[in-house]
Amino acid sequence: MTFRQARYDEPLLCEKTRPASDSDTDFFDVPVSLRRKRLDLPQVSEHEVVRHYTRLSQMNFGIDTGFYPLGSCTMKFNPKFNEELARLPEMARVHPDQDPSTVQGILQILFELQGILAKISGMDAVTLQPAAGAQGEFTGLLLARAYHLDRGDAGRDEVILPDTAHGTNFASAGMLGHKIREIPSEDGRVNLKALEAAVSGKTLALMLTNPNTLGIFEEEAVEIARIVHDAGALLYYDGANFNAILGKTSPGKMGFDITHFNTHKTFTTPHGGGGPGAGPVGVKAFLEPFLPVPIITFDERAYGLDWDRPKSIGKVRAWLGNSALLLRAYAYILSQGSDGLEHVSERAVLNANYIRHRIEKHLPVPFSGLRKHEFVASGKPLKAKGVRTVDIAKRLMDYGFHPPTVYFPHLVEEALMIEPTETESKETLDAFSDALIRITGEDPELLKSAPHNAAVSRVDEVRAAREPILSWRMLQRAKGTEPHKA
Ligand SMILES: *Cc1c(COP(=O)(O)O)cnc(C)c1O
Repeated sequence: MTFRQARYDEPLLCEKTRPASDSDTDFFDVPVSLRRKRLDLPQVSEHEVVRHYTRLSQMNFGIDTGFYPLGSCTMKFNPKFNEELARLPEMARVHPDQDPSTVQGILQILFELQGILAKISGMDAVTLQPAAGAQGEFTGLLLARAYHLDRGDAGRDEVILPDTAHGTNFASAGMLGHKIREIPSEDGRVNLKALEAAVSGKTLALMLTNPNTLGIFEEEAVEIARIVHDAGALLYYDGANFNAILGKTSPGKMGFDITHFNTHKTFTTPHGGGGPGAGPVGVKAFLEPFLPVPIITFDERAYGLDWDRPKSIGKVRAWLGNSALLLRAYAYILSQGSDGLEHVSERAVLNANYIRHRIEKHLPVPFSGLRKHEFVASGKPLKAKGVRTVDIAKRLMDYGFHPPTVYFPHLVEEALMIEPTETESKETLDAFSDALIRITGEDPELLKSAPHNAAVSRVDEVRAAREPILSWRMLQRAKGTEPHKA
C-alpha cells in the first residue's frame, strides 16, 4: 500500500481566478444598469471549486483514509451513524438557551449519559461540562481544592504526579498555581516508596494516569489510593485511557475520588488538530455538592436545571457542554450492547500487544510486563546509522500510515508510542508491523529525506512552533503584503 498522492500544491481559489474578459460579460447580454457590481470574489467555475476542495481534502490524512496509530489519542473508527444523529435538525438546531421544557429530549439523553458514565467509572455523580480531557483535569482539581477549603483545610497546595503521567496533568496543576511534586517511576510503574516520601499534609491530590503513558497498568492502584488517602489528600484518575479498562475495572473500584473521560477518544467523535472534545468528570458522592452548575435534574416527570448549588465551583464552560459530542458518546455506548464495551477494551489491548510482539525484536520495548491499549517502542538501535525516530515516522507516511506519537513519553529514548485501537483488522496490524520492520532495514538516506510522496515534505518544526503562520492572512502579513479585502 502506498500513498497515492503525487507531491503538489493546491493554489488558493483567489490565485486561480482569471480576469473576466469583456466577452464573458457580453455573453449574457445583460443591460449594464442591471449587471451586478463586480465583487472582489474569485472568478472560478463551480467545477473548479469542487475540484479545489476535493483536492484539499485529499492532501489530508484521517482515520477514514488509513491506519492512525497515534499513541495516547485513541484514533478509532468513528461510526457514521453517530454523525447522522448529531446532524439531525432536532439536535443541530436546538439552542442552548431554550427553556428546559422545550428541550426535554436532549436533557434526557444528557441525564442518562451521566448515569452511564457514573456506572462505567464507578463514581456517583458526573458533570458533562468540560470541553476536553485537560479541562476535565482542571475541573477535577478545582473540585478537590473546593473540598479541602470547605473543610477548612487551606494548607494543601501540592499535586503529586508520577513521571509517567500525561503532560496535561502537569499543565492543569500548573495552571491552578499548585506546586508539582514529580515522583520517579520504577520499571515504568509508580514507586511506592517515592510516593510515601512525597505525600504530606500539604498534598492536595495525586493524579494518576492509568494505564500510564507507557501503556502499563498500575497494578498497585489500590495501595496507591490508600497511601494518598491516609495523608488526607484526594485521588484523581486520568481516565483518558479508558479504552484499556472499559468493563474490566474502574477508578471507583480502585478507590479514586475523581476521574475524567475523553469521550472523543473512548466513545468516538472525529478529533484531531486540537478538537473538538468533551471531558466529563465523575466524582464520589462527597464531592457532588461542588460540581459545576447547572445540574441536570429529573423529578420522575420532567428534566430541569438546578442553579441553586451554594458549594458549586461555578461554571467551567458555556451551557451544558459539547452536547453534539455527548450525543455521539451516548449513541456509541448504547450501540455496544451490554457486554460490548468489555470487548472493546479486550480487543484494543490484544491489538496493541500483537504489534508489540511483532516488532519488538527490531524496535525494543523497554520495561517489563504486558501492555494495555498502547505501548512505547524505542528507535534507539537505529541511532548508530544516523537514523532518528522522526525519520521512521516520516517514512511510515510513504507506506500510507499515520505516524505514531514520537518523542513522548520522555522516559523512553527515541520514543514511538503506538496505539492501534480495537477497530483495526489483523491485516492492517500486520501491514503496519511489516512496514515498520522493513523501514528499520532501509537505506538511511531514504529515511532521512522521507516522506517522498506526501503533499508536503519536511517542515521546519522548530520554526513552525516559534513563528506559527496558521492562515493565508498571516502569511501575507509575514511577507509584508496585506491581503486584499474579500
Ligand atoms: C489525551 C489525553 C489527555 C488530554 O485530553 P484532551 O482532550 O486532549 O485535553 C489527558 N490525559 C491523557 C492520558 C490523554 O491521553
